[in-house]
Amino acid sequence: MRASKLYAPTLRNTPAEAEIVSHRLMYRAGLIRKSAGGMYTFLPLAWRTIRKIERIIREEMDAAGGQEIMMPVLQPAEFWQESGRWSAYGAEMMRLKDRHGRDFCLGPTHEEMMTALVRDEVRSYKQLPLMLYQIQDKFRDERRPRFGLMRSREFIMKDLYSFDKDEAGMNASYQKMYDAYTNVFTRCGLAFRPVEADNGAIGGGHSHEFTVLAASGESNIAVCTKCDYAASDEKTALAPIEAVDEPLEERRKVRTPGASTIEAVRDFLNVPVEKTIKAVAYQTDADELVLTFVRGDHEVNEVKVLHAIDGALELRMADEKAIRAAGGCPGFMSPIGIKAGTHIVVDSTVMKMKNAVAGANEADVHFMGVTPARDFQDEGLIACDIRLVREGDPCPHCGQPLTMTHGIEAGQVFTLGTKYSEAMGATFLDENGKEKPLLMGCYGIGVGRTMAAAIEQNSDERGIVWPRAIAPFEIVIVVVNAKKEDQLAYAEDIYAECKEAGMDVLLDDRRERAGVKFNDCDLIGYPVRVTVGPKAVESGMIEIKVRRTGEIFEVPREEYRQKVQELLQTL
Ligand code: ATP
Ligand code: MG
Repeated sequence: MRASKLYAPTLRNTPAEAEIVSHRLMYRAGLIRKSAGGMYTFLPLAWRTIRKIERIIREEMDAAGGQEIMMPVLQPAEFWQESGRWSAYGAEMMRLKDRHGRDFCLGPTHEEMMTALVRDEVRSYKQLPLMLYQIQDKFRDERRPRFGLMRSREFIMKDLYSFDKDEAGMNASYQKMYDAYTNVFTRCGLAFRPVEADNGAIGGGHSHEFTVLAASGESNIAVCTKCDYAASDEKTALAPIEAVDEPLEERRKVRTPGASTIEAVRDFLNVPVEKTIKAVAYQTDADELVLTFVRGDHEVNEVKVLHAIDGALELRMADEKAIRAAGGCPGFMSPIGIKAGTHIVVDSTVMKMKNAVAGANEADVHFMGVTPARDFQDEGLIACDIRLVREGDPCPHCGQPLTMTHGIEAGQVFTLGTKYSEAMGATFLDENGKEKPLLMGCYGIGVGRTMAAAIEQNSDERGIVWPRAIAPFEIVIVVVNAKKEDQLAYAEDIYAECKEAGMDVLLDDRRERAGVKFNDCDLIGYPVRVTVGPKAVESGMIEIKVRRTGEIFEVPREEYRQKVQELLQTL
């Protein structure tokens, strides 16, 4: 490929909306252009990288026993109605009707389609295990599309689905995928960590997210400072904190005028914040009120709350009317005096507290001397772990302190059990001729997000620094002055040689100033630059520069190819 013909419009400036490095650099380096909010075109350089990532993914999926197929993007509502997700999926699903008024969606994921495919064909345990995958555009009408390819509305996903005859088989498939994902992200040259994850609306058993470590990442992860435990903050299980043993006081009301926040109560009553109980009120998608309580210095983990409420799919902050209707008083709330039928979820640490301060469900009044295990005798009260992990909390595996970091979820693996196969009647006959539901797993990688994550991790003030495996081109040959025929001819010669040797090379033959070309090369981030200038023509010495380290080597013409290959081995 010749840069003079390449459609890679580089820019000096970036659009104001590009908040993170990968988005800015992809714009400036001429990799992507926006069509509409959360929708992007991949230009030739980006597409080469995407195809390299896809090739790595394909090789690893195939090696693990996956078979590639291609399903329609457009999916009939019927399958989703069978699984119950047509209503459960919510506003993220892009829905449409055909000319006959029948409902369809643009696939946000393909569990239903895959289950429907195999239920008609897989009849016997002899056909199992089976792993099918595709690499295809997915559609999600994200609440906040942002960060370029990180969270877009149309994006490329590899999704693989495993089908097994029993739990052991499902777990073996999961392990194969876990290993394959480890290989994929390692081969892409990324620093990542598999972290224990919540499995969200998809349901089922265990799950890991493959998280690329980056400060801009939207995932908060808790990492143990001692053992190898790592989990998303949504998932991190926390044991209750034991309270200091002390004689129990009588519960009593105190006036706390205007003290409707934890800080105000703490200051007004002059008690440590660890002695206060904080209330947060939510409403479910079915408009049911959920009152949650955590220690004053803790935060509520909404995902854990969601798991605690049967059938709830979404939570939003409750409106005041609903709180008052249940007998609650915003700013002065506790479970004491709340009407029956309200969901009350109390963090297990709160249940251990003694002589605490909590609201009295009256304006400007709190209780002191509250001991939840004694005072929260509400029927139907749910006591469980609902607090959000924070720096220094004990690791659930070894008890050592956890530290919090950020990451980008590039992939996720799940076991699904029989959730979809039971709902959709996907069964097979086992060794004894008994009909059983298939055991499933699903495994996704965001291809565009992986590319963006690679840039988040690999850039400097001049531009992208691609890991070799996913660089659009591994080598660029720059002609210092393409108007000089001797230089151009020399470079063409070298270029032809490299092509002949099967190297992944671009010739920058543009009639631009050398400085402009060097800047573009640094911005686009080719791992190795070969420079052909007057020196090469006169003395046969060729300059090689490594993008990542800035090292420069001068080698005689006979040796440059070997040197380039040697350098690439290290990148
Ligand atoms: P997130 O929590 O970031 O919204 P998710 O957990 O909903 O993602 P999955 O359903 O697990 O995503 O999809 C598999 C992979 O697809 C993700 O790990 C991610 O790499 C990618 N992905 C998901 N949503 C998007 C998006 N809006 N834009 C780009 N890639 C995405
Ligand atoms: Mg996910």
